[in-house]
Amino acid sequence: MTSPFHSRLPYGERVPADPLLGRPFFPFDGDVQVVPLAEPVIPEPPRAGEPGGQDCPTCVAPEQQAIWGDEQWLLKAFEPTGLPIVTLLVPREHYRLDNLPPALTATLGPMIQRVAGAVREIEGVGRTHFNRWGDGSEHFHVWFLARPLGMMQLRGAMIAAWDDLLPRIPTEEFAANARTVARSLATISGEPLGIASAS
Ligand SMILES: [Zn+2]
Repeated sequence: MTSPFHSRLPYGERVPADPLLGRPFFPFDGDVQVVPLAEPVIPEPPRAGEPGGQDCPTCVAPEQQAIWGDEQWLLKAFEPTGLPIVTLLVPREHYRLDNLPPALTATLGPMIQRVAGAVREIEGVGRTHFNRWGDGSEHFHVWFLARPLGMMQLRGAMIAAWDDLLPRIPTEEFAANARTVARSLATISGEPLGIASAS
């Protein structure tokens, strides 16, 4: 095995769910079972956009499902889900975080601030969560999730689970929320795209 961390784990077994049960942010109760712990896969299978992996969806169709874009960045929103909106910030060109050019990296902080602020302009949104995982696609991307005002169970990382659990918002409301976000961003740079460009 590759590290002390890897070698001490109980592969094939179910670790207890107890540490999470009853926590204020954990969305399940009752008889919760953790899935058996899988063996590591090393080397890891290629991600989309890596040699041997699937084509990079952003490079194949850059503006597909984009709701806003400027010369450097695109913001995508895929479909109605349980939250007011979930969006994805991606550079137009294919980079990873570690090879993002310095000039583009310098605009990432302002973009995070702008997208977070734009999402918060949607009625009923209390906070914008954002995170970078990067396990599915090599093309650098940051997720933004709208946390509804006052919904204290949705604080923290489990908001991604709540996004799947809550009833899907209506398509019209999703499009209106996308327009709110895109128009806010367009006040500084770029323009609304796709569903956000309709009047
Ligand atoms: Zn790409």
